Amino acid sequence: MSWFKKPNSGPKKGDGDRRNIPEGLWIKCDKCDAILFKEDLDRGFRVCSKCGFHFKIGHQKYLSILLDEGSFEERETELRTTDPLQFKEKQNYPDHIKNYQKRSGLTEAVITGKGAIDGRLVSVAIHDPSFIAGSMGSVVGEKIARAIRRSIELRCPLIIISTAGGARMQEGILSLMQMAKTAIWLTRLSEAKLPYISLLTNPTMAGVMASYASLGDFTLAEPGAMIGFTGPRVIEQTIRATLPEGFQTAEFFYERGFVDQVIPRPELKETISRILSYFPDQSMSPESAEEGV
Ligand SMILES: [Zn+2]
Repeated sequence: MSWFKKPNSGPKKGDGDRRNIPEGLWIKCDKCDAILFKEDLDRGFRVCSKCGFHFKIGHQKYLSILLDEGSFEERETELRTTDPLQFKEKQNYPDHIKNYQKRSGLTEAVITGKGAIDGRLVSVAIHDPSFIAGSMGSVVGEKIARAIRRSIELRCPLIIISTAGGARMQEGILSLMQMAKTAIWLTRLSEAKLPYISLLTNPTMAGVMASYASLGDFTLAEPGAMIGFTGPRVIEQTIRATLPEGFQTAEFFYERGFVDQVIPRPELKETISRILSYFPDQSMSPESAEEGV
C-alpha cells in the first residue's frame, strides 16, 4: 500500500478543508518516515527537517546552491554518446540513451561548465542521477577531462560533484579507460598547483569512486552518502563476514580519514567558499584565455 493511502499519514479525502489537496503534495522521508510538505522540501535544500536525510537532487539544484546566481555557463554541450560496442540488451544502447535524454532533458549524465562562488571563478562538473544513475561512459569521462583542462587553462579551482553507480557497462572497456584519462588530467592539475574539491554524494561507487571522485585535494561528502567500490552485500557474500554498522557511509569514511569533512547541504557553499579563500586567486578572465574555454 502506498504511504499516502495509510491512515494518519497525511491529508486524505474528506478531511475537512483539506479534502481538495491533491496527491503528490507530500513526500515520505526515506529514512525516518516523516511526512514532509514537498514544497517546503523543494524550497530548501531537500533535506528532511526531522532527521537530516539528504534526498537526491539534480545538477540544477546543486548549481543554485553552490554558484552565484546567473554565473554558470555550460560547456561541452555538443558531445554525444555513440555505440562503439554495438551493445545489445533488452533495448539497444542508442535507444536506451534516447529514452534517458527524453526523460531527463539532459544529453548525458554529467554537466560541465564554469561559474563563480562568491565572485571566485571555478570550473565545475556535476553528475545528475536522473541520467542512467549518473554512470560514467566515454562522454562523461571526456566532459570531466575537459572540465579539468578548463581549470588549468583558466587557472581556477575545480569542483566535481559525484553521484554514480560506477562505469557504464554498455561501453565496457571504453568506460573503464575514462578512469585513467581523468586521473592523468588530475595529475596535470596538481602539477599546475590548482586545487580540486571533490564532493561525494549518495551514492558514489565503483569506477567513479576509484578514479576522479577519490582524487580530490579536499574530499567532502554529504551526510549518509554511500561511498565505495563494491556494494556491501557483495563484499559480505565474498568474504563471508558481517560488516560493521555504517560500513561505506560518508561518516564511516570520515572516521577513517578517507573523507576530510562531512558537509550538510545547507553549509555546502559556505564551506567550499572558505576552502577556496585559502588559495590565492590566480584565475584568468575567460576572455583572456583560449576562446571557448
Ligand atoms: Zn527524515
